[in-house]
Amino acid sequence: MFDKVLIANRGEIAVRVIRACQELGVRTVAVYSEAARLSPHVLLAGEAVLIGPAPAAESYQRAEAIIDAAPQTGAQAVHPGYGFMAESPEFARRVLEADLVFVGPPPEAIAEMGDKTAARSRMIEAGVPVVPGSDAITEVAEGVAAGDRIGWPVLLKAAAGGGGKGMRVIESAEDLPRALSAASREAGQAFGDSRVYLEKYLSDPRHIEIQILADTHGRVIHLGERECSIQRRHQKLVEEAPSPAVDADLRARMGDVAVAAAEAVGYVGAGTVEFLYQNGEFYFLEMNTRIQVEHPVTEFVTGVDLVQEQIRIAAGLPMSVEVSPDWPLGHAIECRISGEDPFSGFFPSSGRIRALEVPCGPGVRWDGGIMEHYEVGLNYDPLLGKLIVHAATRDQAILRMRRALRELQIEGIRTTQPFHLGVLDEEDFKAGDISVRYLDRHPELVETGEGDWQARAAAVAATLLEHRTRVSGGGVTVTAASAARATGAISEWRRRLGTFD
Ligand code: ADP
Repeated sequence: MFDKVLIANRGEIAVRVIRACQELGVRTVAVYSEAARLSPHVLLAGEAVLIGPAPAAESYQRAEAIIDAAPQTGAQAVHPGYGFMAESPEFARRVLEADLVFVGPPPEAIAEMGDKTAARSRMIEAGVPVVPGSDAITEVAEGVAAGDRIGWPVLLKAAAGGGGKGMRVIESAEDLPRALSAASREAGQAFGDSRVYLEKYLSDPRHIEIQILADTHGRVIHLGERECSIQRRHQKLVEEAPSPAVDADLRARMGDVAVAAAEAVGYVGAGTVEFLYQNGEFYFLEMNTRIQVEHPVTEFVTGVDLVQEQIRIAAGLPMSVEVSPDWPLGHAIECRISGEDPFSGFFPSSGRIRALEVPCGPGVRWDGGIMEHYEVGLNYDPLLGKLIVHAATRDQAILRMRRALRELQIEGIRTTQPFHLGVLDEEDFKAGDISVRYLDRHPELVETGEGDWQARAAAVAATLLEHRTRVSGGGVTVTAASAARATGAISEWRRRLGTFD
């Protein structure tokens, strides 16, 4: 086992990895930007190294700053968490070149799965069912031919895409020319790779994914599925295990395919094979070659510590997991709590955490990256923490999550907590009748009810007043946070009043 591991990340996932290391008796090194000095991951780690200013491009995404910090501290391995450098084959390569261990798969496997068109061809070769689609498209005529073959509507996606960004639904051939040039330009800007391709647009699928683990001793296993259909703009908000749509037979079939997918690219470590599921058929979507945000639901229903297994595997040890015919054990749900106002188009909310009370009690887990006095800024993704519950049945897990969400108190910024309470109370969700179109069907969950209108108006007034006080009082200039809050409040106010201008 390693003596010391450097965690190349921040927020809740850095805390999660530090906890795993501590339980394994491994010492830890945190890295932090100037914006993250007072952060739980910095306080929890054995030591911490400053790697640069707040913008991620100058700190958490600067490979040399991170890799230089390792020898300084005697760390032997680098855990990338998720996001930032986790799926950069280049970063993984540089870690290896510096004689460090990368806690993740070989760079070749990251590269092969990171290019969606290459991954699709590789999966087709391996006999994995993929969403019907095309290779990379440059000419309109190619796209039209592919669309006619696949059947319209189609989804235009970036080959190097991620984070639910840059996808466009194309209803018919006429819409393709304009969309194609705009999409490839945007893909070039966002991902540094302008290649785009087409996939059949499934009208009402579920997003179901399989967790896998592979070690260097030739063992590849799956740990069942996660249902991640509750999404907004193709990004997950609520996840659960097991999926209400999956029985033992389907689980075994999807699991076998996920294992075959991992074996096809020589995978090592923890990974997730994502599928869309519709009308009894499942199709490979992509593989995430890292630990995922929603991994705790699988940990609850299998009893496996996935992050500890990642570290054991990276150290060259065999994984310590015993696959059980009793999996999944009960039911687990996760709600992502982020610093966004769900009733103002998920407008980012920032500011100081004035008070924090996290829920506890039976079957409750809080994986958080914040603490009291922590300053939530706008430099990083808005995830503050995850609330995860476990109970014997789905119904009981829903009741437990409602109880836990009510106990959670985050003061100082707006969060997605009230949105989650709405979902847990909604009949289709309770019945397990969900798909990736869930929020299209339930717009009421992201709109302020009429009953809330007075409270909302009071909040707008309070924000404006605070803004004015800050501007006029004591020479304090407008902070980004107060300006963002005021702008969000005003635009919401205008939207509600309609004719405000
Ligand atoms: P990213 O890598 O950007 O996260 P994915 O390919 O994983 O993109 O897809 C994210 C989400 O987008 C899916 O969970 C689903 O909601 C939607 N999506 C992706 N492909 C399709 C498709 N072919 N048809 C319908 N929805 C899709």
